[in-house]
Amino acid sequence: MLYLVGTPIGNMADMSPRAVETLKLSDVILCEDTRVTGILLNNLGIEGKKLISYHEHNKASRKDMVTDLLSKELNVVQVSDAGMPVISDPGEDLVTIAAENGFEVTCIPGPTAAMTAAAISGIDARFIHFEGFLPSAGAARTDRLSTLAKSEDTIILYEAPHRIVKLCEDIGKTGFAGRKVSFCRELTKKYEEVIRLNTEDAKDYFEKNPPKGEFVVVIEGKTASKETDGIITEEKTEELKEHLIKSGLSMKDVAKALSIVTGRSKNDIYKDLIGR
Ligand code: SAM
Repeated sequence: MLYLVGTPIGNMADMSPRAVETLKLSDVILCEDTRVTGILLNNLGIEGKKLISYHEHNKASRKDMVTDLLSKELNVVQVSDAGMPVISDPGEDLVTIAAENGFEVTCIPGPTAAMTAAAISGIDARFIHFEGFLPSAGAARTDRLSTLAKSEDTIILYEAPHRIVKLCEDIGKTGFAGRKVSFCRELTKKYEEVIRLNTEDAKDYFEKNPPKGEFVVVIEGKTASKETDGIITEEKTEELKEHLIKSGLSMKDVAKALSIVTGRSKNDIYKDLIGR
């Protein structure tokens, strides 16, 4: 069986008892960096485990080995250096390999920087787009940001500290004017900090306070037009709303559908719906 095991993003006390048990019961641990996982196991007092490196650059060549291990009915655990496997980290291919070959897969969840930041950012967390890392430079980066700027969903980015000032500059050029942005750094660690700014002030702030440590950047979604553009009358909108609710759609899906026909923000519609 394949076990995906979440590990702490900084604070060792966040390692769950089930994650520890799973590591103890494992026959083989696939990990990004055997030194990093070696330190984790050492801290947990777990000895004698077989560690095999599994990362972006060798994952293709490890495919047969993984199938072989699972065929032998071994307990194969996969961890990343920190946080949840698969979330901007390796692991997805392992799940595919296991599932395609009929092996069971389970996940022992742990902290993930994205959702920790979503919770602590103070920015609307009901509709979220998790982007992870942007392309590092060039048109690919600015094009992607321009696309994200059109989204009404809250955007969650991972960014390296040496690129935070550049990110603020890029955000300034790609249609994010006037938004709230929270820079969530060193989450769960001693110097955890949430720097709540707006997009206009961010570059200036980080030029004066050079960014250090690990960052998740949470940006408010686009505030939608308040106009209905006469696409559909209020009366018809009301009828459609009742119909969609009666048909059993979730409030989130009803809000999405009404947003398409009215041009209003789905967040605003959702707020109205749940306040009804
Ligand atoms: N799989 C991990 C997860 O579940 O969050 C993410 C791995 S990704 C390679 C590493 C990035 O996650 C960092 O560059 C940073 O953007 C973010 N990150 C990880 N730990 C963090 C922390 N303690 N505080 C803030 N950001 C963190």
